[in-house]
Amino acid sequence: MNYIQKNFHDLFNAANELNCTYQKPAQCPHCGICCDPLILGSTFISPFTAKPPQFVFLIFQCTACKKLFTATYEVTNGKSHICCMTPFKPSAFSDELIEKISPRFIEVYNQALRAKDNKDLNLAAIGYRSALEILIKDYAINELNEPPEKVIKLKLFEAISNYLPENMLSTADVVRILGNDHTHYERKYPELDFNLLQKYMDIFINLVQTKLLIANPPVSR
Ligand SMILES: [Zn+2]
Repeated sequence: MNYIQKNFHDLFNAANELNCTYQKPAQCPHCGICCDPLILGSTFISPFTAKPPQFVFLIFQCTACKKLFTATYEVTNGKSHICCMTPFKPSAFSDELIEKISPRFIEVYNQALRAKDNKDLNLAAIGYRSALEILIKDYAINELNEPPEKVIKLKLFEAISNYLPENMLSTADVVRILGNDHTHYERKYPELDFNLLQKYMDIFINLVQTKLLIANPPVSR
């Protein structure tokens, strides 16, 4: 899911807690298209106790398929986060070529994506690092025809150096290092957030997809 940063102030013209930013969905959960949806309804509710949190409910309309979807935000001390969206579409990754060389990557990465959906970001990060190792080793064995007994024994950073081309090294290393950071007791990079890890995971998967497409053209001369 993609988001655009907006401010509730534009919707409610309210002071205090509602003068804060929120993540407006920028992707339709029905058709998947990226858009800046129309806002067809908005309301906010404060509990009778008048104590935070407040809740904001927004109704969106996709500019492509015209279907409606909603988001509920919890607002506390000038900060908001989405606590519920309908319809809820769990994240799922699929790719025919990657599945052929590494079905286990698809399984583990999808488990990690479900952890991310649940906001279990430490587990998701550990899962991304594990999925990365499986994909690189399966790529070496099934695409580069390297002997499994040799590949299996390698540490992840060795597998990255041995089997990935120069232009993929740094991207894989970011996922490895940030994933490891969530595995170890003491974090070295607590200031780097999960979104950055997700970006580099997306780039790495795209690079693998590109390599596999080039190596396996659907038609040829
Ligand atoms: Zn749509």
